[in-house]
Amino acid sequence: MTQENDPQYHLRKLKLTKQIGSATLEAEMSPCVWMNNGYPLQLTVKLENGGHLIVSDPTSNVTYQTATESAMRALLDLVKVCECQRCNAPAFAPSNERPTRDGLCEKCFMGDLRKELDAKQAKEEAAAEKRFAKAKKEGFTHVVIALVHPTAGDDRCVEINCRGEPTKRQIRAELKKLGSEVLDDFTVKKL
Ligand SMILES: [Zn+2]
Repeated sequence: MTQENDPQYHLRKLKLTKQIGSATLEAEMSPCVWMNNGYPLQLTVKLENGGHLIVSDPTSNVTYQTATESAMRALLDLVKVCECQRCNAPAFAPSNERPTRDGLCEKCFMGDLRKELDAKQAKEEAAAEKRFAKAKKEGFTHVVIALVHPTAGDDRCVEINCRGEPTKRQIRAELKKLGSEVLDDFTVKKL
């Protein structure tokens, strides 16, 4: 259906807002509702200070064809907010259907995620340093750190220990042997 003869078209563009205490919510119809025939009405709801969630009502059978502004507003009214358990900024309440972040605001949640990633990376780096030290002890002088890009499947990282500085040609030959389509995705580290 084109937008000219679609009587529901205005609902796609409709932006609802709602203020709950210090929290400002903004909601619109999720694109999947009009893209898939018969899809249950759902909204994508954003908090002004970051984060979003999807809200739908499993007990309702409203679809795009039968949606109204008041049906959308009723959905928005299902969204609960709370204060972030850590910093008191507005957050989605854990009681919301999905996806909740245990009552943390977007900033605190993402901050935790970043810390987790940083810790993981630090651990990986420490493990790599240990491997390099071991290789050096065994008489290797350089390590080639490369990404093997196979024709099918995921890329994988390899480390090739060398005695003496490897030439580009040797490295390319080695990567070819390992089944890589790309032969110049590597760095050479002196041990
Ligand atoms: Zn917070």
